[in-house]
Amino acid sequence: ITATDIVRATLDRIKETEDTIGAFITINEEKALAQAARLDESGISEDAVLAGIPIGIKDNIVTNGLRTTAASRMLENFEPIYDATVIENLYAAGMIPVGKLNMDEFAMGGTTETSYFKQTKNAWDTSKVPGGSSGGSAAAVAAGQIPVSLGSDTGGSIRQPASFNGIVGMKPTYGRISRYGLIAFASSLDQIGPLTRNVFDNALVLKALCGHDPKDSTSANLPVPDFTANIAEGVKGLKIGVPKEFMGEGIQPEVRQAVLNAIETYRSLGATVEEVSLPNATYGVEVYYIIASSEASSNLQRFDGIRYGYRSPEAKTLDDVYVMSRSEGFGPEVKRRIMLGTFSLSSGYYDAYFKKAGQVRTLIKEDFDRVFNEYDLLISPTSPTVAFDFGQDADDPVTAYMRDILTIPVNLAGIPGMSIPCGFAGGLPVGLQLMGKHFDEATMYQAAYAFE
Ligand code: GLN
Repeated sequence: ITATDIVRATLDRIKETEDTIGAFITINEEKALAQAARLDESGISEDAVLAGIPIGIKDNIVTNGLRTTAASRMLENFEPIYDATVIENLYAAGMIPVGKLNMDEFAMGGTTETSYFKQTKNAWDTSKVPGGSSGGSAAAVAAGQIPVSLGSDTGGSIRQPASFNGIVGMKPTYGRISRYGLIAFASSLDQIGPLTRNVFDNALVLKALCGHDPKDSTSANLPVPDFTANIAEGVKGLKIGVPKEFMGEGIQPEVRQAVLNAIETYRSLGATVEEVSLPNATYGVEVYYIIASSEASSNLQRFDGIRYGYRSPEAKTLDDVYVMSRSEGFGPEVKRRIMLGTFSLSSGYYDAYFKKAGQVRTLIKEDFDRVFNEYDLLISPTSPTVAFDFGQDADDPVTAYMRDILTIPVNLAGIPGMSIPCGFAGGLPVGLQLMGKHFDEATMYQAAYAFE
């Protein structure tokens, strides 16, 4: 079998299923086939395990010469002139990007419904949302369009869609993967990570993505372990905590039951599982929407109709260019975040909102530090519910924001979080969230692999 065979079969499969799933914004047919042909010609070495494997890329990760939209009208015709560091790393491993995946506009949302381009369907039930914001990344993998994809996670955007589609999604430690070339949403929270059908593949792809990058000052200068080295060692003797705040009110009973079953499985495999408390984590959503929106309001200032992106054709004056381009180029959720963020940062409100949020963020981080002095891992549901119908959140952003209550604290603390499938509720997949110590993804993979 050649890389060309694999890429051809993948492109065929995408074409067959795309009308049903709607995961792709752009398909990279020509360049993917050319890359595969080059690979076949040069020959693939035995230990290049990822060489020739097709991968889908969330459309907020820039790709040289390949349209990158962040699912926004603002970037509808944006062709970057460089590759994100993760894309260079994928090429170095011989992986083949076959297309750009749908998402919530600028990664703001949890259902992929805020995309300017299209609706993506849940791979298990097309009447349900795929989750978000990496909804295209999750649905494409779950529907068998591609074996692996990249997503980004600011408050749950890899883990929640992975959970809704019954696949494996990893948000690594903040700093583990370079953000150079990731279109910034909230820079102190964003991380890129892999979505795959199984745990082992995920560990392999993560390794390929990692490494220190001088182009991202927050990228960690630490050795990257082989995440598969101890993956089969099991969980005997491991201490696992279950934050009681993550199992209480608001969790769908079948979801809670699936997690209770997972706890029993871990006990039967030889782990100790005990209840722990993260009292400040319950303020995570409030803190997140202040910090993430503030950072977004600053990051999105670059879309001014001048430098790149959409420019209103009706604009007559300089003010028109700014105001009309942004009014027409951004969707309603993005505008809501910019207003919220600008408000929290404005003088007179800064101390009461942005500064206060930073202080509570520290308390949340300290909760995790304290618990991780005693425990190796934490587990919880990934999301309070399974996938739901389209159109639920249209007029109710606050309800939508509350859905991320279990994933957001992980980003605020900068620790790694992952979602693995742990059962079904009403025919839809339930995700188990694993939370680890800073830079200890290896132990999470070990525990995830034992469960699988
Ligand atoms: N759903 C959350 C939000 O809307 C998280 C998004 C993300 O992780 N990118 O902000």
